[in-house]
Amino acid sequence: MTVGGLRAKVRAIGDDIENTERYRVVPGASFSLLDYDPNGTKTFDGNKKESQEVFDRLNQRLEDLQELLYADGRHKVLIVLQGMDTAGKDGAIRHIFDRTNPQGVKVASFKRPTPLELAHDYLWRAHAQMPGSGEIVIFNRSHYEDVLVVRVDALVPEERWRKRYHHIVELERLLADEGTTILKFFLHISKDEQKERLEARLADKEKLWKFDKGDLAVRAKWDAYQAAYEEALARTSTSFAPWYVIPANKKWYRNLVISKIIVERLEALGLKHPEPQDLAGVTVV
Ligand code: AMP
Ligand code: MG
Repeated sequence: MTVGGLRAKVRAIGDDIENTERYRVVPGASFSLLDYDPNGTKTFDGNKKESQEVFDRLNQRLEDLQELLYADGRHKVLIVLQGMDTAGKDGAIRHIFDRTNPQGVKVASFKRPTPLELAHDYLWRAHAQMPGSGEIVIFNRSHYEDVLVVRVDALVPEERWRKRYHHIVELERLLADEGTTILKFFLHISKDEQKERLEARLADKEKLWKFDKGDLAVRAKWDAYQAAYEEALARTSTSFAPWYVIPANKKWYRNLVISKIIVERLEALGLKHPEPQDLAGVTVV
């Protein structure tokens, strides 16, 4: 198949998935997480097998687009992944980016801040990890922890964390103004689904290392976290750095929707290979 033919086919297949706009948090509109079903698998009606071909095509397309982004060298891409424990941040990274080139894709994981990080403003460590030209950087957790765990556990007083929505929007505006495409995904799972996944971790020798007793204390504050996420998403979803609420109870559907959104946004950049140098008369001896 020609490249053009393949592109047309990929686009047609991508169109099978319903409009991804339905998952975007619209700035200024009223927003409730209750309106988003963590189980949703609209297009394929729960049919994982049927979706596999579509995912493979998107996966292939992402490989090509990432290579082109790197070659083009004019754009930077930041992908933020947030969600409760077991929501699938690690799994999404592994599956969605498995064909991309490690030279142009980096993952930054945000843990409890170190003393050095705590000695600086909370955006310092995030800013330092932002993508350079031609790069994709994936944030596994992010600066949003500073209005999530920090809020729920009252690690700083409310008058301090409340100002952070504004700081975050302005940092993201700066990045966008300077050529960064920003996509933020909230991996939305239900409390029941989390119970099953934590139990699976406990029962599986190879998953046990991921189990942290602290996760149970976080789970006990489920409602406080949902409220913190709801406000964070409502206040920081902007035209230049939108949030998407991804139905994440079904792992395959989570991967499909995130891939589709990333592919759509990269397609819209109009990426192209740089103009070759004038090679008239050049021969390899
Ligand atoms: P994990 O993603 O399972 O490796 O866990 C990382 C842990 O670091 C989570 O419990 C986060 O809530 C915590 N964490 C990340 N950023 C911060 C922060 N700014 N302040 C406090 N805890 C944080
Ligand atoms: Mg964990």
